[in-house]
Amino acid sequence: MKKTVKDINVAGKKVLVRCDFNVPMKDGDITDDIRITSALPTIKYLVSEGAAVILMSHMGRPKGEPKPEYSLKPVADRLSELLGTEVIFAASPQVVDDNVKKTAAALEGGQVMLLENVRYRAEETKNDEPFTGELASLGEIFVNDAFGTAHRAHCSTAGLAKYMPSVSGFLIEKEVKFLGDALESPERPFVAIMGGAKVGDKIPVIENLLKKVDTLIIGGGMSYTFFKAMGYEIGKSILDEESIELAGELMKKAEQMGVELLIPVDSVCAKEFDNNSEKAVFDRDKIPADMMGMDIGPETVKLYCDIISKAKTVVWNGPAGVFEMPSFAEGTRAIAGALAESDAVTVIGGGDSAAAVEQFGFADKMTHISTGGGASLEFLEGKELPGISCLEDK
Ligand code: ADP
Ligand code: MG
Repeated sequence: MKKTVKDINVAGKKVLVRCDFNVPMKDGDITDDIRITSALPTIKYLVSEGAAVILMSHMGRPKGEPKPEYSLKPVADRLSELLGTEVIFAASPQVVDDNVKKTAAALEGGQVMLLENVRYRAEETKNDEPFTGELASLGEIFVNDAFGTAHRAHCSTAGLAKYMPSVSGFLIEKEVKFLGDALESPERPFVAIMGGAKVGDKIPVIENLLKKVDTLIIGGGMSYTFFKAMGYEIGKSILDEESIELAGELMKKAEQMGVELLIPVDSVCAKEFDNNSEKAVFDRDKIPADMMGMDIGPETVKLYCDIISKAKTVVWNGPAGVFEMPSFAEGTRAIAGALAESDAVTVIGGGDSAAAVEQFGFADKMTHISTGGGASLEFLEGKELPGISCLEDK
């Protein structure tokens, strides 16, 4: 267990807080502020305890240069609205300079400031000096609450922990609790649902989950790599050529371990990757050469929803089909609906799966929706996350 902000005295201290304010932007406006609202509990707690709060985050990939389109100024404005108090924005292309140091030094307990995008500095993603030291000079305590970047060792994540007492914020605490409990002490049956497009990325996750779950369900684009490994033709479906062999090995492994590994039995196929394309349902061994699998079919939906209804813990990563197109959203919607109806502990990891659950209106029916796509995947893979392991133990 890692120490949290509640385990230390922050009153009157300068507290550096790494958040994940990497919000989607369009024409200078924030299109979804969930990452900002997710950070509020920690910020509000620190303010109420009388800490001088210095916030840090990255946004997008400015690649180590100050690029105005990646400025955190809009985040400072939104935060000010949400907190109902001014968030001082330290607008410096170097992120830390003499002015910023002065502002930080003058910051009083209960006040909040936000630094400019830490990825304006090339050192950030290399976890290199002098940037880490410059950041460290601003504060006395480090709080990491950026789950979305916890799988990266950067200056503002793992780097700062070498300089000062370091603890987690409430968001990281919550993520670790829900993802960790699901993996380490799940109520059974424990079912994992894996889907989405990136099979290669997800094979290590499947491998780790096989050791933990009772049933592993495969859906989405990765199904076709498994079909291929089973010897079926998949037409124009998405395929990860390099992962065919591994998919075959995973099936064997599951059998040896006595874990139920379910591959879709049928598939909604289309002529083109287009919502309006001609479509039809085929059994998994009968996909025509001129068509591509876009969603799990109705038989698969029935089978999967039945398994989900009996589960006590479900972890879901990756949509069951091309849910962005209404014609191919049914499988994903049905799974999300089954999760919403179930009384199991339901944990959603992965950016697109979270978006799907949100889109279908089931978000408030889930036990936990992870805010970190890549980080939650690495967590499920069983990897140590450097932004978390660097924090003090209780
Ligand atoms: P997550 O972000 O939840 O981890 P991924 O990024 O791995 O999920 O995959 C999400 C994407 O997978 C979605 O954009 C979806 O359209 C796509 N996808 C799902 N099924 C298929 C399929 N059969 N063919 C092509 N793409 C698919
Ligand atoms: Mg994704």
